[in-house]
Amino acid sequence: MFRDITTLLQDPIGLRNTIEKIVARYRNEKIDKVVGIESRGFIIAAPVAYALGAGFVPVRKQGKLPSATIGCDYQLEYGHDRVEIHVDAVNENDRVLLIDDLIATGGTMEAALKLMLDMKAEVIECCFVINLPTVGGAERLQKQGYKLYSLCSFE
Ligand code: 5GP
Repeated sequence: MFRDITTLLQDPIGLRNTIEKIVARYRNEKIDKVVGIESRGFIIAAPVAYALGAGFVPVRKQGKLPSATIGCDYQLEYGHDRVEIHVDAVNENDRVLLIDDLIATGGTMEAALKLMLDMKAEVIECCFVINLPTVGGAERLQKQGYKLYSLCSFE
């Protein structure tokens, strides 16, 4: 089942509450960059970055970014995919918040985390609107020592 967030986004109160809850959590964290994962992660990450006074950085699928990139391959159920980031988008020791709309297997966020490791960024947390705990991705990444936060969960 695909968990659709467009109905949340089109609701004025739902959209406002979503952004404000995330902003409140990280307001005092001195975040330098908010990294959004293509494509629904962008919708959440950009207003959060604006409200935190941080920069917004896109992590995109292969071949979409216009300048020099570094990338990371990751496994899908069938086949593999690749995410990329501009080489100069995040500086060493930048305090980074990663945002996506949803975590299922955690493969996408794990690839983005590897990019952050390559760039020597300090990852403050990975934030999601939705966690699907039965798929197990969030638990798997937490066991690797990453901090994760989600606004809600669906079995
Ligand atoms: P994962 O890599 O954790 O298995 O999948 C998460 C990624 O796939 C996220 O970028 C998310 O946007 C997308 N995704 C996977 N399943 C769903 C779903 O049910 N609903 C939404 N909105 N996105 C999903």
